Amino acid sequence: MKNLWNSKESAKAKDKLGLLVYSSRLVGSEPKLCVWGGGNTSTKTVERDHLGAERRVLRIKGSGSDLKQSERKHFPPVDLDGLRYAFRFKKMTDQEMVDFVARCLLDPKAPRPSIEVLLHAFVDEIDITHTHADAILSITNTHHGKSIAREIYGDELLWVPYVKPGFTLAKWVGKAYQKCPEAKGLILENHGLITWAEDAKTSYSLTIQMVSRAERYLAVQRKKRKYWSAPVYIRLSRAGKRKWLLRYLPVLRRAVSQRQPAVLKLYDSPQVMEFVNARDAAKVSQVGPATPDHMLRTKRHALYLKPPGKSPESLTGADIVRQVNRYAQKHETYFLKYRSELKRSLSNGSAQMLDPYPKVILVPGVGMLASGRDLKSAAIVGEIYEHSISVMVSATSVDRYRSLTERLAFEMEYWPMELYKLSLQPPEAELSRRVGLVTGAAGGIGKAIARHLAASGAHVFIADLDGKKVSKLADEINEQVGKGRVFAVTMDVTDASSVTRGLESIVLTTGGLDFIVSNAGVAHVSSIELLHERDWEKSFSVNARGHFLVAREAVRIMRRQVMGGSIVFIASKNVLAPGKDFGAYSAAKAAQVQLGRILAIENGEFGIRVNLINPDGVFEGSGLWNGIRENRARSYGISSKRLEDFYVNRNLMKTRVLPEDVAEAVTYLISSRSAKTTGCILTVDGGVKEAFPR
Ligand code: ZN
Repeated sequence: MKNLWNSKESAKAKDKLGLLVYSSRLVGSEPKLCVWGGGNTSTKTVERDHLGAERRVLRIKGSGSDLKQSERKHFPPVDLDGLRYAFRFKKMTDQEMVDFVARCLLDPKAPRPSIEVLLHAFVDEIDITHTHADAILSITNTHHGKSIAREIYGDELLWVPYVKPGFTLAKWVGKAYQKCPEAKGLILENHGLITWAEDAKTSYSLTIQMVSRAERYLAVQRKKRKYWSAPVYIRLSRAGKRKWLLRYLPVLRRAVSQRQPAVLKLYDSPQVMEFVNARDAAKVSQVGPATPDHMLRTKRHALYLKPPGKSPESLTGADIVRQVNRYAQKHETYFLKYRSELKRSLSNGSAQMLDPYPKVILVPGVGMLASGRDLKSAAIVGEIYEHSISVMVSATSVDRYRSLTERLAFEMEYWPMELYKLSLQPPEAELSRRVGLVTGAAGGIGKAIARHLAASGAHVFIADLDGKKVSKLADEINEQVGKGRVFAVTMDVTDASSVTRGLESIVLTTGGLDFIVSNAGVAHVSSIELLHERDWEKSFSVNARGHFLVAREAVRIMRRQVMGGSIVFIASKNVLAPGKDFGAYSAAKAAQVQLGRILAIENGEFGIRVNLINPDGVFEGSGLWNGIRENRARSYGISSKRLEDFYVNRNLMKTRVLPEDVAEAVTYLISSRSAKTTGCILTVDGGVKEAFPR
């Protein structure tokens, strides 16, 4: 492992806290040292408190923050002498410890210090680096971990047996340190590494040095592959895998979404494939987590989806559902077994079962699927499990892999101190956990809908004929709502294969599909007397056939997924109150509405809702008016400049209808607020009495 310390960069730090931030970012930037949110660092300083008195202060990472993104504010100041007083205590419950630490906090607005705060306080050295390094875990998570560690490090690193983080662990670490202060750090069994030194640079460098030594040892052992078996499962071809995923991803998504909907993200790097295809993976993946910290995101075990034959093609949808359900039942049994102990340890006495469905699914021949409320959280799960795989494979190369016992794992999985970290996540937005498509997204209404849905937490695939435009729009929206929320798709809604490809890309990226906003449209102005067949057909091709193709494909996926769904057609006021010279448009839009109603009739029993929105006179950013503005004005016998005023004046509320108004209605129809509404026309037109739905 490379030492990334750069003296020029570190010289920019103005004090010890600045150096701690710098070294913390270095630690966080190396995923082999700690995965998202894991590990912690500290320094000891002297600072003035709010009364101006000098105090010895421990600056330690706050709970739930990520080292890679460290800033000064992420390191709460804690009264060091206050913390060290706790060393005299024999016992402390978690709650007593949290309360005690809260009283030592010198800034009431600072985040809660890491749960390992006392451990940092009980060691005299100034700077402490604590990581869950893969290489160290590969050694401690074996039956002979202690003797292997001794072989590599001699007396340089001490060994502390496993105990859940908290007062006892801090006390054990403090005692181990006092007995042997000349050691450079210690290994926490089944947990990770701690190094200490008089300054941040040395503490960081020691971590790198110790991990590198473990890596070198493992590299030699890995070649021997003592306990690791050769692949036994058939790896599918690219096309075969695509077919498998398209068929079974919606089934799997539904199966793991029984408590709450989730999206699924695929991982199939060579390392992942080597793991899932090996015979031993079925066993090793069921031993337990690489570290308690991993378990918070990945649960204690992955689900190993075992095919009856040598290929994943031998799995059926029913097999998948059965295996997922069995996993959940096992979790329930495990929960019930230890629930009474949990109840006793909780002050409020309520013990709720966590979502019992798997977060990681290993599919031989296909890869690994990580589940989360959105792709970002699924990626945290996936990346953590990639490290678990690396630890399991390395550990198995030197010795038999070993993890926490079932009881210890439960104690950790349901530990309120650890669950607290999850409670710091931003609250879920209304459309979080949902995935869907908006067509015609480059136009004014489409853009507003895409923005609205993305801001409401959904993953939105924005489609248009003009791929460049939607690409740019996706970047723009992602800039505002966070990377990876919106994806651009080039799609011709009049071409069945283009539509199929677009919808397939949604399933392959997220595991399923929850909604469609079918919005793409074209307008043509001409009296029927003068209307050319070509223009008539073009209007029908986009304004009727386009909606048919998109909805047909969507319904096929939604029915396979069995999670219901919501389809919204953007229709037009013209459907109910047509105007002259707008025949090709209005007739095709009327067909669209009838199509929507039939879809509602055919799909209600599957929980798929289909609703229509009739907007009127939406000008802002709309491409629809290009080229027809003059004609439309002429039909009404007014000048084209006055056209917008004309629309404003013809509605009851004398109001301008904006793309955002349509987007608001769409969001309502996609959300569960409209759970009992289907086959309905919602007008967004300021009130046009001729166009009242009836
Ligand atoms: Zn830790």
